[in-house]
Amino acid sequence: MSQHPNSRIAADVVAFVRSIYGDGFVPLHRPVFEGDERKYLIDCIDSNFVSSVGAKVTEFEQQIAAFTGAKYAIATVNGTAALHVALQLAGVQRGDEVLCQALTFIATCSALTYAGAVPVFIDVDRDTLGLSPDALRRWLSAHAELRDGQAYNRATGKRIAACVPMHTFGFPLRIAEVVAVCGEYAIPVVEDAAESLGSYAGTQHTGTFGKLATLSFNGNKVITTGGGGMIVTDDEALAQRAKHLTTTAKIPHPYEFVHDEVGYNYRLPNLNAALGCAQMGRLSEMLAIKTEVARRYAEFFQGAGVRFVQPISGATANRWLNAIMLENEVQRDAFLEYTNANGVMTRPVWRLMSRLEMFKNCQHDGLENSYWLEARVVNLPSSVPDGAMTPLRG
Ligand SMILES: *Cc1c(COP(=O)(O)O)cnc(C)c1O
Repeated sequence: MSQHPNSRIAADVVAFVRSIYGDGFVPLHRPVFEGDERKYLIDCIDSNFVSSVGAKVTEFEQQIAAFTGAKYAIATVNGTAALHVALQLAGVQRGDEVLCQALTFIATCSALTYAGAVPVFIDVDRDTLGLSPDALRRWLSAHAELRDGQAYNRATGKRIAACVPMHTFGFPLRIAEVVAVCGEYAIPVVEDAAESLGSYAGTQHTGTFGKLATLSFNGNKVITTGGGGMIVTDDEALAQRAKHLTTTAKIPHPYEFVHDEVGYNYRLPNLNAALGCAQMGRLSEMLAIKTEVARRYAEFFQGAGVRFVQPISGATANRWLNAIMLENEVQRDAFLEYTNANGVMTRPVWRLMSRLEMFKNCQHDGLENSYWLEARVVNLPSSVPDGAMTPLRG
């Protein structure tokens, strides 16, 4: 198969994207409110329960638990806050190290920093764009030792308190293998499933493999609550602790205000949860439409000789953000330049965390695949097309 010349790829992609999303500016991912959003919001306002107490929060939590198959779900103000508390619950303390990807959104590293830890960056697999179990095993066998049932970094003497794999753009990583490797070192896994609501590794929903996992409902995610997040776990005690810590650690009482530790005001407001309930009502339909968009992209890129990212065998991706791998940085930059100048939003994968000022001196394993992907991966418009694009809707 011959490669398109640079300029042709970008021009053909712009034309193809417009065949799905129409004229005018095409964003990367926009929210869609075509369900019960207005009704539920008005119900909330009429009931006066707009803030951190209200029936919609519980309903939304139950919907997420039922959808993912997690036993417990605790709603938070955003995904970063969810990750912060989940790491604390996993046992991360000041002075610890946390293993994570360099190829991730900043929230992963912000949250572990809030918890007092420093990151150690482990490489990703080229096919999943997520944490590599092989790279993890290599790094741990070279640097970690078990003492009193806990993992320590031989070089720094610090405790390795958690591992945070992240399912990039909704593509499931080899999570069962990552959990198995971490298990050998007694390292708890906190899955950053912010991007992977509706994604499955085998038949199991992402975010149900680790001790805890977190989701995000930011405006650009598969479903949105405006801003919002969720902690999911199968562990009842952790779930109770999550609820307690995210609601100011107040001891339940009809009128007295007594708090038994320093908690957080991280509870999702009822108004936002109302949006979430309405969005959940349409999640399956939205996932089906996104799958059809991805199928069309795949067909198009096969014809164009460009590598379109697909889930690995046995995995199902929610198709949150579609992505391609271009030949090199030069081709990538020309593509980004042309598409964005022509009203079709595209974006390179995040600058590696290990290259940011705050984390540039942190340990890493060489990050060969992370660098390779950083130079090539570009996201494409992936929203559910608006109501006018009915051909996509079955
Ligand atoms: C969106 C996202 C989060 C959480 O972000 P919030 O905006 O705080 O909800 C965390 N990790 C990743 C990888 C994300 O993409």
